[in-house]
Amino acid sequence: MDMLGWSAAIFGALACALLALAADFHWWALEGAALVSLGGAFVGLEETLRSRQRLATVEDRLVHIDHGLPDILFEATPDGAIRSITHASIRLLGYTPEEMRGRHVSEFTADPLPSFRADGPASRTWTTEWKRADGSTRTFTSIVEPIWREGRLRAIRGVVRDQAERVAAESALRESEARFRRVLDAAQNGIMLVGHEGKILLTNDALRNLLGEGAPDASGNDLAGRDLASIVHPAYIDQLMALMASRAWSDAAPSHYEVQLLGRGGALIEVEVSLATFKERERNTGVLIEVRDLTEARRASEAIRRMSDYDRLTGLPNRDLFDRHLQRALIDAKAAQRHVAVVLIDLDRFKLINDTLGHPSGDRLLFAVAQRLQSKLPPQHLLARFSGDEYLVLCPDLSGIAAAEGAARRVIASFDEPFELDGHQLQVSATGGVAVFPTHAEDPATLVRIADAALHEAKAGGGNTYRMGSNDANDPARRRLELESDLRRAVDQRELRVHYQPQVDPTSGEVRGFEALLRWDHCVRGNVGPDEFVPLLEDTGLIVEVGDFVLREACIEAKRWHDAGHDRLRVAVNLAPRQFLVSDLDERIRAALADSGLPPWALEVELTESAGLLDFDAVAGVLDSLAEIGVTTAIDDFGIGQSWLSRLQQFHIGTLKVDRTFIQRIMASGNDFAIVEAVVALGHALGMDVVAEGVETREQLDVVRAIGCDLVQGFYYSPAVAPDAIEALLRDGFTRPIAVAV
Ligand code: C2E
Ligand code: CA
Ligand code: CA
Repeated sequence: MDMLGWSAAIFGALACALLALAADFHWWALEGAALVSLGGAFVGLEETLRSRQRLATVEDRLVHIDHGLPDILFEATPDGAIRSITHASIRLLGYTPEEMRGRHVSEFTADPLPSFRADGPASRTWTTEWKRADGSTRTFTSIVEPIWREGRLRAIRGVVRDQAERVAAESALRESEARFRRVLDAAQNGIMLVGHEGKILLTNDALRNLLGEGAPDASGNDLAGRDLASIVHPAYIDQLMALMASRAWSDAAPSHYEVQLLGRGGALIEVEVSLATFKERERNTGVLIEVRDLTEARRASEAIRRMSDYDRLTGLPNRDLFDRHLQRALIDAKAAQRHVAVVLIDLDRFKLINDTLGHPSGDRLLFAVAQRLQSKLPPQHLLARFSGDEYLVLCPDLSGIAAAEGAARRVIASFDEPFELDGHQLQVSATGGVAVFPTHAEDPATLVRIADAALHEAKAGGGNTYRMGSNDANDPARRRLELESDLRRAVDQRELRVHYQPQVDPTSGEVRGFEALLRWDHCVRGNVGPDEFVPLLEDTGLIVEVGDFVLREACIEAKRWHDAGHDRLRVAVNLAPRQFLVSDLDERIRAALADSGLPPWALEVELTESAGLLDFDAVAGVLDSLAEIGVTTAIDDFGIGQSWLSRLQQFHIGTLKVDRTFIQRIMASGNDFAIVEAVVALGHALGMDVVAEGVETREQLDVVRAIGCDLVQGFYYSPAVAPDAIEALLRDGFTRPIAVAV
């Protein structure tokens, strides 16, 4: 605002206000003189008194206003004598109004007041140096105006404004404006202020950059002033304007909307906008729109999607991407009446390689295999990583089964040459399972499962070959496949039961405990033995869940025996290697014990020798924590492998269970007799109990008892029985037959 406008505002606003307060009262006549100017008409005493009171209040208010004014307002006689002057004189000049009143303006200024003519301008600016009470001088610019009445100059009024303060205030304002701009331009997101009618009032650098617009003054083509419609895609502008008008968003939580902006040259830019009310001095000036560029975010999410489609180690497509390609290939093959093969490949003995050479080498081998297969496969085949050391090959557009077999043969043959790993030549072989569309199945999931079943069959036969899948119900691979899905249902529907086989002291015939054994009463197939389904449970990982169930059941059941008075009985639970390595095994065991109330000594966990093929350090750690809980550990099927033998001493092991194959041959083979004898001697020397498993006949019993086995488990006494048969079994006992024998 320029000086003139500013002073006019002062004169206008103040004069109006003051005149409204006291009709005939001149704002500049603040001192006692005011009363005089009120005169004119005759007023009664009472009225005079009232008026005086009223005036006193008015005066109070005016004095108050006067003291708050930053500028000096004065009135002088036409010849320059100061009639009245406001209190800003103290701050600006160092004189009180009293000190200045009656004195000539020119006593305080370097220049005389401007002169006025009746036909001259209504006001003048007057810049002059003022002498301050402290002897210093300061230049002020004033607006002075003549007061004419009846053609005569009656007075001169002026406003003296503190220029320095104004300059300082203005530069502070400019500085804060500049800072605001810098903040605005430093913002990463685009920001614009839009008036309610849709006019862009303000934008920042980020928005201009996003739209490809130059700086406002460089091109002279500023966004500010343009309509919002000029930068928003027509498909979105109505929606956006309606939003702004409806103010459906609240100030507290600005909402986000995705719209498209129009950049320079019509480029489409996907953005997310958020709207917020913009208030200035309590009035809604417009809507503040923050604009976030989604291009980057889109690119990033695309990259993430791509990453999740590919295996990180080998860079091959992963299972998901493979499935999508397979789906596509099946649709095409159906239309063209062609065949599609899915070949699942598993490296032979990869675990051994991984364990002996270490994980990093194992990873390098997996990568090398991926490279090798990739280079040998025809370009239209798709290679993917399935899991661990398993790969999937999609062979689309085949003429039939023979072509599928050919493809599988080629895949297996690509392992003929050795791999170069860490400077060594490594001969690696692989096994494959093949499923063909439409021969074996018509959907991706079943094809992969059939290939998987065929792979397992091929593995069981020694590996290093491939096997075609089958949809024949009697085919072992097929049966396995069906069992697998049935098994999932069985687990869900709790079709699995736990039976208990007694462990008997062969000298007294007393039952000392039971081994918990899983049973599956299959609705169609009848009793499916654990030898058939436990490996399936292990393969599918279901064993962890099921194993937990057996553990809990066994503890609860054993606690029942205790509660019924058989409180020396123990229960043995089989732990699969996979279960054994679950990190919270000890917590699961503690929980099963705590929840059932069974004392730890009454629980024995059985580990098979194959668990010994695992990482021994890990095994030692688990065995230690089991010992800490107070449960005992048995080595199951002892004697098959040799892996535990050298380590028996260093582990907390309470029981050795001699594998039933030895017992069954014990009568015929002197060798087996010697082994059992040695195992018993070894176990006893190490303070362990030795259990003879699979004792079926009286002769076998006599031999193992003679050798010194502590406990006997076998059909001779009893197979595993359902829990409800246990009470009778305990009551009757086995003392009689043994007693007869002795
Ligand atoms: P295992 O641990 O060696 O269990 C002993 C197996 O020998 C049982 O077979 C039992 O019924 C059988 N058996 C007992 N006495 C005789 C006998 O006198 N003669 C013969 N020929 N066999 C006898 P089952 O119940 O079929 O279990 C087979 C295997 O399944 C078990 O062998 C065990 O390795 C596994 N298994 C069973 N239940 C579970 C379980 O809850 N968890 C885990 N992880 N594995 C289990
Ligand atoms: Ca066992
Ligand atoms: Ca066993």
